[in-house]
Amino acid sequence: MKTGIVFHKKYLEHEQTPTHPERRERLAYTIDQLTEEGIFEDERIVLINPEPAKEEDVLRVHTREYIEFLKAASKTGGFIDFDTNVPVGLFEVAMLAAGGAIKAAKYVVEGKVRNAFAMVRPPGHHAKPYTGAGFCYINNVAVMVEWLKRRGFKRILILDWDAHHGDGTQEIFYEDDSVLFISTHQMPLYPGTGYPHEVGKGRGEGYTINIPLPPGTSDESYLYVFEKVIEPVAEEFKPEFIAISAGQDNHFTDPLTGLALTARGYAEMMKRAVDLAEKLCKGRLVAVLEGGYSVESALPYTNLGIIAALAGMDISNIREPAKILSELRWRKRDYASQKVRDTVAEVRSIHSKYWSCFR
Ligand SMILES: [Zn+2]
Repeated sequence: MKTGIVFHKKYLEHEQTPTHPERRERLAYTIDQLTEEGIFEDERIVLINPEPAKEEDVLRVHTREYIEFLKAASKTGGFIDFDTNVPVGLFEVAMLAAGGAIKAAKYVVEGKVRNAFAMVRPPGHHAKPYTGAGFCYINNVAVMVEWLKRRGFKRILILDWDAHHGDGTQEIFYEDDSVLFISTHQMPLYPGTGYPHEVGKGRGEGYTINIPLPPGTSDESYLYVFEKVIEPVAEEFKPEFIAISAGQDNHFTDPLTGLALTARGYAEMMKRAVDLAEKLCKGRLVAVLEGGYSVESALPYTNLGIIAALAGMDISNIREPAKILSELRWRKRDYASQKVRDTVAEVRSIHSKYWSCFR
């Protein structure tokens, strides 16, 4: 079993401002850590060189008007929202990020690797058909999923475990019954959407599942959500491909959020996802990097945990240095586990109308 990693040094070039949370150090520290751990020399790892997405591929997700705006703003510098500037040269990097996700899927579909991790920047899951938002410009995971649909994939599961609700991805596939979108995210938090009663519309009704989580949610509660919602519904949906919007801002040191996941928790979640892919769709799985802003204390370890789980390596030793782990007690909240149980019961009840596994 080989695991692909998509990376390009151009992913380090994008920067809105040096103090913006979505900055180049997010990947720079990770690359150092992965190099130190010998990941790039491991025979189970295949490094994949991305190519820019084709315009026709991004136009299956975004409007021509928005893409033309991005292109023009990228020449002069521009502005989308308070958090999301368009720095000069953005368009080329954003197309390389979307193209990186496609290339990862292509390698998996062609059997060159069993699964893959597209370690791309900028992230994508808040980008909607007609606009960017929340540090995102082109919805990388959505572009990849549309690419897969064009190649005959009829049932694709998107699991978005970023700490923020994947509102862009939800909107893109809200009326689509070929894509099951499941999001776990902190609530309250930007962008403020992702309530359990948002279930999809028209043919897509029942194919959007939102599981909002309280601040302080820990590894154990995430695994509970896997056991009670994600795994049973995935087994009923029978995806032909699993895509993961792999945000890493659920980590207990993340400066923008309040969740309490550890690097080991990330590795465990990815192992569960890999096991699902092995059971349901010949291992076909691509994780696409979304957020994650704890550049020194989290990302080097969470990225390592994700890659180790994808490649079937031993994950029992994945953990942050002790000095960092001591901060966990400030984040973990006792009340969170009961709140998560209540939310899971609510989600299962709402979705029992659509999925027999919840009845
Ligand atoms: Zn996020």
